[in-house]
Amino acid sequence: METDVAQRHKARLLEMRSRLISAVQDIEQSIVEDIRPPGNVANAPIHPATESEEGVSENIAQAENQEALLEDVEAALGRIERGEYGNCEVCRQPISEERLDALPFARYCIACAQRRG
Ligand SMILES: [Zn+2]
Repeated sequence: METDVAQRHKARLLEMRSRLISAVQDIEQSIVEDIRPPGNVANAPIHPATESEEGVSENIAQAENQEALLEDVEAALGRIERGEYGNCEVCRQPISEERLDALPFARYCIACAQRRG
């Protein structure tokens, strides 16, 4: 059974998930395009790092951030399914609503999050 807190945050989490999925897809698409530019790649000269290659690693870092966030959001939705949403994964105490409003996918209460650094 879903708690009120879970219900309130579920819509936000679902929206975040679909936004993150399309963000990750967009970034991955642009990485693929950067790595394999249109044209004859086989004859492309070997050259030192270019702006485009720096762009690629930036995109990869961005994709990794978005994917990590997506995992957190998916995990939060899983906790809603199991009726565990809103409880700290470490101490099992309820996470404050303020914190959930700011971070609906928070896994830990503030005290545990600070302890984990
Ligand atoms: Zn805790």
